[in-house]
Amino acid sequence: MMSMKKYFSQYAAIFFVIAGTVSFDASALTVKEKIAESPAVKAAIEELVLANRILYDQNAVDGYGHISVRNPANPNTFFLARSIAPSVVTVDDIIEFDMNGKALNGDVRVAYGERFIHSGILRNRPDINSVIHGHAAATLPYGLTGSTLKPIYHMSAFLGDGAPIFEIRDFASPNTDTDMFVGSIDLGDALSKSMGLQYFVLMRGHGYAVGADSIKKAVFRAIYAIQNANIQAEAMKMGTVQYLSPGEASRAQETIEKTVGRPWQLWSEKVIRP
Ligand code: MN
Repeated sequence: MMSMKKYFSQYAAIFFVIAGTVSFDASALTVKEKIAESPAVKAAIEELVLANRILYDQNAVDGYGHISVRNPANPNTFFLARSIAPSVVTVDDIIEFDMNGKALNGDVRVAYGERFIHSGILRNRPDINSVIHGHAAATLPYGLTGSTLKPIYHMSAFLGDGAPIFEIRDFASPNTDTDMFVGSIDLGDALSKSMGLQYFVLMRGHGYAVGADSIKKAVFRAIYAIQNANIQAEAMKMGTVQYLSPGEASRAQETIEKTVGRPWQLWSEKVIRP
Protein backbone atom coordinates (compact mmCIF):
# COMPACT_ATOMS: atom_id res chain seq x y z
CA MET A 1 0.00 0.00 0.00
CA MET A 2 1.25 3.46 -0.90
CA SER A 3 2.39 5.49 2.09
CA MET A 4 0.95 8.97 2.59
CA LYS A 5 4.39 10.45 2.15
CA LYS A 6 4.90 8.76 -1.22
CA TYR A 7 1.34 9.66 -2.24
CA PHE A 8 1.95 13.33 -1.57
CA SER A 9 5.37 13.34 -3.20
CA GLN A 10 3.81 11.91 -6.39
CA TYR A 11 1.16 14.59 -6.24
CA ALA A 12 3.82 17.22 -5.71
CA ALA A 13 5.75 15.89 -8.70
CA ILE A 14 2.67 16.14 -10.94
CA PHE A 15 1.96 19.61 -9.61
CA PHE A 16 5.49 20.79 -10.41
CA VAL A 17 5.38 19.31 -13.90
CA ILE A 18 2.15 21.22 -14.61
CA ALA A 19 3.40 24.40 -12.92
CA GLY A 20 6.66 24.03 -14.81
CA THR A 21 4.87 23.69 -18.14
CA VAL A 22 2.87 26.83 -17.47
CA SER A 23 5.83 28.87 -16.27
CA PHE A 24 7.86 27.79 -19.34
CA ASP A 25 6.34 30.73 -21.19
CA ALA A 26 8.53 32.98 -19.05
CA SER A 27 11.32 31.36 -21.01
CA ALA A 28 14.12 33.87 -20.54
CA LEU A 29 13.93 33.02 -16.85
CA THR A 30 14.93 29.47 -17.59
CA VAL A 31 18.25 30.43 -19.14
CA LYS A 32 18.66 32.80 -16.21
CA GLU A 33 18.00 29.95 -13.79
CA LYS A 34 20.67 27.90 -15.53
CA ILE A 35 23.06 30.82 -15.20
CA ALA A 36 22.27 31.01 -11.47
CA GLU A 37 22.78 27.26 -11.10
CA SER A 38 26.03 26.83 -13.00
CA PRO A 39 29.12 29.04 -12.88
CA ALA A 40 30.26 27.39 -16.15
CA VAL A 41 27.02 28.33 -17.94
CA LYS A 42 27.22 31.85 -16.52
CA ALA A 43 30.80 32.25 -17.75
CA ALA A 44 29.96 30.84 -21.20
CA ILE A 45 26.97 33.14 -21.68
CA GLU A 46 28.82 36.23 -20.46
CA GLU A 47 31.68 35.44 -22.82
CA LEU A 48 29.16 34.90 -25.64
CA VAL A 49 27.69 38.37 -25.07
CA LEU A 50 31.15 39.92 -25.07
CA ALA A 51 32.03 38.00 -28.25
CA ASN A 52 28.98 39.48 -30.01
CA ARG A 53 30.24 43.00 -29.22
CA ILE A 54 33.81 42.19 -30.24
CA LEU A 55 32.81 40.64 -33.56
CA TYR A 56 30.88 43.77 -34.46
CA ASP A 57 33.66 46.09 -33.28
CA GLN A 58 36.21 44.13 -35.34
CA ASN A 59 34.03 44.09 -38.48
CA ALA A 60 33.64 40.31 -38.50
CA VAL A 61 29.84 40.77 -38.43
CA ASP A 62 27.61 43.78 -39.08
CA GLY A 63 23.88 44.15 -38.44
CA TYR A 64 23.74 40.49 -39.48
CA GLY A 65 25.83 37.59 -38.23
CA HIS A 66 25.88 35.58 -35.01
CA ILE A 67 27.93 33.47 -32.62
CA SER A 68 26.89 30.41 -30.61
CA VAL A 69 28.40 28.39 -27.78
CA ARG A 70 27.73 24.80 -26.75
CA ASN A 71 26.17 24.50 -23.30
CA PRO A 72 29.05 23.50 -20.97
CA ALA A 73 26.49 21.72 -18.75
CA ASN A 74 24.84 19.79 -21.61
CA PRO A 75 26.70 19.02 -24.87
CA ASN A 76 23.39 18.48 -26.69
CA THR A 77 22.24 22.09 -26.45
CA PHE A 78 23.74 25.44 -27.35
CA PHE A 79 23.21 29.14 -26.65
CA LEU A 80 22.60 31.82 -29.29
CA ALA A 81 21.04 35.29 -29.13
CA ARG A 82 17.50 35.98 -30.28
CA SER A 83 17.18 37.67 -33.66
CA ILE A 84 18.85 41.03 -33.00
CA ALA A 85 21.99 42.83 -34.15
CA PRO A 86 25.17 41.43 -32.52
CA SER A 87 26.25 44.83 -31.21
CA VAL A 88 23.28 45.07 -28.82
CA VAL A 89 23.14 41.50 -27.45
CA THR A 90 22.84 41.15 -23.65
CA VAL A 91 22.52 38.12 -21.35
CA ASP A 92 18.72 38.52 -21.44
CA ASP A 93 18.70 37.92 -25.20
CA ILE A 94 20.23 34.45 -25.08
CA ILE A 95 18.08 31.45 -26.09
CA GLU A 96 18.95 27.78 -25.59
CA PHE A 97 18.51 25.47 -28.61
CA ASP A 98 18.70 21.74 -29.24
CA MET A 99 20.86 20.26 -32.00
CA ASN A 100 17.99 20.55 -34.49
CA GLY A 101 17.82 24.31 -33.96
CA LYS A 102 14.64 24.09 -31.89
CA ALA A 103 14.34 26.65 -29.09
CA LEU A 104 14.07 25.03 -25.64
CA ASN A 105 12.31 26.01 -22.41
CA GLY A 106 9.25 27.09 -24.40
CA ASP A 107 11.11 30.18 -25.59
CA VAL A 108 8.93 31.76 -28.28
CA ARG A 109 11.04 34.82 -29.04
CA VAL A 110 12.05 35.28 -32.68
CA ALA A 111 15.22 33.27 -33.39
CA TYR A 112 17.78 33.75 -36.16
CA GLY A 113 16.52 32.03 -39.32
CA GLU A 114 20.06 30.71 -39.86
CA ARG A 115 20.46 29.03 -36.46
CA PHE A 116 20.77 25.77 -38.46
CA ILE A 117 24.33 26.81 -39.37
CA HIS A 118 25.12 26.46 -35.65
CA SER A 119 23.06 23.35 -34.92
CA GLY A 120 24.43 21.60 -38.04
CA ILE A 121 28.08 22.23 -37.22
CA LEU A 122 27.76 21.67 -33.45
CA ARG A 123 25.86 18.41 -33.98
CA ASN A 124 28.33 17.00 -36.51
CA ARG A 125 31.53 18.29 -34.91
CA PRO A 126 31.94 17.37 -31.23
CA ASP A 127 35.39 19.06 -31.33
CA ILE A 128 33.73 22.43 -32.05
CA ASN A 129 32.05 24.33 -29.20
CA SER A 130 31.52 27.75 -30.76
CA VAL A 131 30.40 28.76 -34.26
CA ILE A 132 30.37 32.18 -35.93
CA HIS A 133 28.53 33.14 -39.11
CA GLY A 134 28.92 36.43 -40.95
CA HIS A 135 29.03 38.06 -44.37
CA ALA A 136 32.41 39.89 -44.19
CA ALA A 137 32.95 41.39 -47.64
CA ALA A 138 36.63 40.44 -47.87
CA THR A 139 35.85 36.72 -47.74
CA LEU A 140 33.21 36.75 -50.50
CA PRO A 141 35.41 36.78 -53.65
CA TYR A 142 37.01 33.44 -52.69
CA GLY A 143 33.66 31.73 -52.85
CA LEU A 144 32.98 33.14 -56.31
CA THR A 145 36.10 32.93 -58.42
CA GLY A 146 37.86 29.62 -57.93
CA SER A 147 40.68 31.40 -56.07
CA THR A 148 41.09 29.45 -52.84
CA LEU A 149 41.35 31.26 -49.50
CA LYS A 150 44.66 29.92 -48.13
CA PRO A 151 46.91 30.88 -45.21
CA ILE A 152 49.28 33.65 -46.23
CA TYR A 153 50.61 34.12 -42.68
CA HIS A 154 50.87 32.43 -39.29
CA MET A 155 47.83 34.19 -37.78
CA SER A 156 45.40 32.36 -40.05
CA ALA A 157 47.37 29.12 -40.23
CA PHE A 158 44.20 27.23 -39.23
CA LEU A 159 43.04 27.67 -42.84
CA GLY A 160 45.36 24.73 -43.59
CA ASP A 161 45.10 23.57 -47.21
CA GLY A 162 42.51 26.21 -47.98
CA ALA A 163 38.90 26.96 -47.16
CA PRO A 164 36.27 24.64 -48.65
CA ILE A 165 33.22 26.16 -50.32
CA PHE A 166 29.60 25.40 -49.52
CA GLU A 167 27.69 25.45 -52.82
CA ILE A 168 24.04 25.62 -51.84
CA ARG A 169 22.91 24.64 -55.38
CA ASP A 170 24.41 21.19 -54.82
CA PHE A 171 22.03 20.55 -51.94
CA ALA A 172 18.85 22.31 -53.03
CA SER A 173 16.17 20.31 -54.75
CA PRO A 174 14.09 20.24 -56.81
CA ASN A 175 14.74 23.94 -57.47
CA THR A 176 18.42 24.90 -57.28
CA ASP A 177 17.47 28.59 -57.14
CA THR A 178 17.29 29.10 -53.38
CA ASP A 179 17.08 32.29 -51.32
CA MET A 180 20.75 31.53 -50.37
CA PHE A 181 19.65 31.08 -46.79
CA VAL A 182 20.72 28.15 -44.56
CA GLY A 183 17.25 27.93 -43.07
CA SER A 184 16.70 24.20 -42.51
CA ILE A 185 18.19 21.22 -40.67
CA ASP A 186 19.16 19.65 -44.02
CA LEU A 187 21.03 22.72 -45.24
CA GLY A 188 22.80 23.04 -41.88
CA ASP A 189 23.92 19.43 -42.27
CA ALA A 190 25.05 20.07 -45.84
CA LEU A 191 27.05 23.11 -44.74
CA SER A 192 28.73 21.05 -42.02
CA LYS A 193 29.56 18.32 -44.56
CA SER A 194 31.13 20.93 -46.84
CA MET A 195 33.24 22.15 -43.93
CA GLY A 196 34.42 18.56 -43.45
CA LEU A 197 37.08 18.33 -40.77
CA GLN A 198 38.21 21.93 -41.25
CA TYR A 199 37.23 24.93 -39.14
CA PHE A 200 36.26 27.45 -41.79
CA VAL A 201 33.87 27.20 -44.72
CA LEU A 202 33.00 29.80 -47.34
CA MET A 203 29.38 30.04 -48.40
CA ARG A 204 29.17 30.96 -52.09
CA GLY A 205 27.33 34.22 -52.64
CA HIS A 206 26.68 34.60 -48.92
CA GLY A 207 29.53 34.64 -46.36
CA TYR A 208 31.43 32.32 -44.05
CA ALA A 209 31.10 30.04 -41.04
CA VAL A 210 33.94 29.31 -38.64
CA GLY A 211 34.22 27.10 -35.57
CA ALA A 212 36.60 26.35 -32.70
CA ASP A 213 36.73 24.55 -29.38
CA SER A 214 36.26 27.85 -27.53
CA ILE A 215 34.57 31.22 -28.05
CA LYS A 216 37.88 33.06 -27.85
CA LYS A 217 39.45 30.88 -30.52
CA ALA A 218 36.41 31.12 -32.81
CA VAL A 219 36.54 34.93 -32.57
CA PHE A 220 40.30 34.88 -33.19
CA ARG A 221 39.80 32.71 -36.29
CA ALA A 222 36.99 34.85 -37.71
CA ILE A 223 39.00 38.05 -37.34
CA TYR A 224 42.23 36.65 -38.79
CA ALA A 225 40.51 34.77 -41.63
CA ILE A 226 39.09 38.12 -42.75
CA GLN A 227 42.51 39.77 -42.46
CA ASN A 228 43.96 36.89 -44.46
CA ALA A 229 41.34 37.46 -47.17
CA ASN A 230 42.31 41.13 -47.45
CA ILE A 231 46.06 40.50 -47.50
CA GLN A 232 45.75 37.61 -49.96
CA ALA A 233 43.77 39.81 -52.37
CA GLU A 234 46.51 42.45 -52.22
CA ALA A 235 49.25 39.87 -52.71
CA MET A 236 47.46 38.30 -55.69
CA LYS A 237 47.52 41.67 -57.45
CA MET A 238 51.30 41.81 -57.10
CA GLY A 239 52.16 38.36 -58.37
CA THR A 240 52.37 34.70 -57.48
CA VAL A 241 51.55 34.23 -53.83
CA GLN A 242 53.72 32.17 -51.50
CA TYR A 243 51.35 30.46 -49.06
CA LEU A 244 52.25 28.64 -45.86
CA SER A 245 53.12 25.03 -46.65
CA PRO A 246 50.88 22.43 -44.96
CA GLY A 247 53.71 21.74 -42.50
CA GLU A 248 54.18 25.43 -41.73
CA ALA A 249 50.43 25.88 -41.34
CA SER A 250 50.17 23.02 -38.91
CA ARG A 251 53.11 24.14 -36.77
CA ALA A 252 52.18 27.83 -36.88
CA GLN A 253 48.60 27.06 -35.86
CA GLU A 254 49.78 25.12 -32.84
CA THR A 255 52.03 27.98 -31.69
CA ILE A 256 49.82 30.99 -32.36
CA GLU A 257 46.55 29.54 -31.09
CA LYS A 258 48.06 29.08 -27.61
CA THR A 259 47.99 32.87 -27.35
CA VAL A 260 44.40 33.74 -28.33
CA GLY A 261 43.81 35.20 -24.85
CA ARG A 262 46.11 38.11 -25.65
CA PRO A 263 44.21 39.79 -28.50
CA TRP A 264 40.97 38.88 -26.69
CA GLN A 265 42.09 41.15 -23.86
CA LEU A 266 42.62 44.03 -26.29
CA TRP A 267 39.35 43.46 -28.16
CA SER A 268 37.40 43.19 -24.86
CA GLU A 269 38.78 46.44 -23.49
CA LYS A 270 37.48 48.23 -26.56
CA VAL A 271 33.88 47.09 -26.10
CA ILE A 272 33.43 46.94 -22.32
CA ARG A 273 31.77 50.12 -21.23
CA PRO A 274 33.41 51.91 -18.29
MN1 MN B 1 23.79 34.73 -43.40
